[in-house]
Amino acid sequence: MTATLAERLAAQLPKLRGRLLSDQSLAEVVWFRVGGRAEALFTPADEDDLAYFLSRLPAEVPYGVIGLGSNLLVRDGGLPGVTIRLGKPFATIAPGRDATLWAGAAAADKRVALEAMEAGIGGFAFFAGIPGALGGALAMNAGANGTETSDRVVEVFGFDRAGDAVTLSNAAMGYSYRHSSAPEGVIFTGALMRGEQRERAAIKAEVDAVIAHREASQPTRSRTGGSTFKNPPGLSAWRLVDEAGCRGLTIGGAQVSELHTNFLINVGGATAADIEALGEEVRRRVKETSGVELEWEIKRIGVAA
Ligand SMILES: Cc1cc2nc3c(=O)[nH]c(=O)nc-3n(C[C@H](O)[C@H](O)[C@H](O)COP(=O)(O)OP(=O)(O)OC[C@H]3O[C@@H](n4cnc5c(N)ncnc54)[C@H](O)[C@@H]3O)c2cc1C
Repeated sequence: MTATLAERLAAQLPKLRGRLLSDQSLAEVVWFRVGGRAEALFTPADEDDLAYFLSRLPAEVPYGVIGLGSNLLVRDGGLPGVTIRLGKPFATIAPGRDATLWAGAAAADKRVALEAMEAGIGGFAFFAGIPGALGGALAMNAGANGTETSDRVVEVFGFDRAGDAVTLSNAAMGYSYRHSSAPEGVIFTGALMRGEQRERAAIKAEVDAVIAHREASQPTRSRTGGSTFKNPPGLSAWRLVDEAGCRGLTIGGAQVSELHTNFLINVGGATAADIEALGEEVRRRVKETSGVELEWEIKRIGVAA
């Protein structure tokens, strides 16, 4: 029997301490609850382990990283190569002096908001409603309620394909709306961020308002990928989708949310292909009715079945 990629890598990297598994389901991880499997899934034990893995990974083996899968559509044929997922050792949060906060890439955004609140550091309440982890927020420049991740970032830390540690300034992250142009292949492990000193009670009121607004306006308990399309300059994607008559539009088990038309939902039994086809149909109808070409915000990765 031929060895799997994970078995071959384990044999080539004898000092690896993290978990390296073959043929792992990603549908159990991502918010949409659909999609294919990872050929190999690596969960590093710590930073040294991640650096060792990357430095020894053969150049021809593709790799990528996922967070909590709240902005991801993994196609039904799955992800070839190695998928990296950071766990607890990368989830530390440490408030510092002068309203600074260090957080690991695997720290849930909501925890970042709550720990900042406890430390009396304002400016992080927007994270309370974003269901990803910090690594995804750093990559996507996640934002809400008028604040973006880039407004808080001082420096981002990570490892490149060669396994070398890199430190990227805010400018080097190349931030724009829901986008970062950090060098390809860098895995973020954490970031130093800065807010402003505030009263805990005032921050708590803000956090509570963010959470209450979310619950009322978004399908937060559904199998979804968050905002499907970026807002075109000066326009709202949800309004364009609504005006194109797409509210409730269905393909297979995928539906445009009735509650928020920029969300696609797996209403049961959807495939990743259903969801992607629905998104493309929405784009087609919006282009036809308004002339606007919507751009996907959701990251679509992997191969079709
Ligand atoms: C109900 C709901 C509401 C949402 N509301 C918002 C919102 O208000 N604002 C907003 O901006 N987004 C929102 N989102 C989208 C999503 O939560 C954010 O984009 C989040 O930052 C993604 O983080 P994640 O950990 O889930 O990343 P994933 O979805 O797993 O990955 C997203 C991208 O980040 C990259 N990535 C993840 N971790 C790392 C890392 N360590 N190093 C390098 N790259 C990495 C991945 O490769 C991928 O390209 C919402 C999603 C849902 C489901």
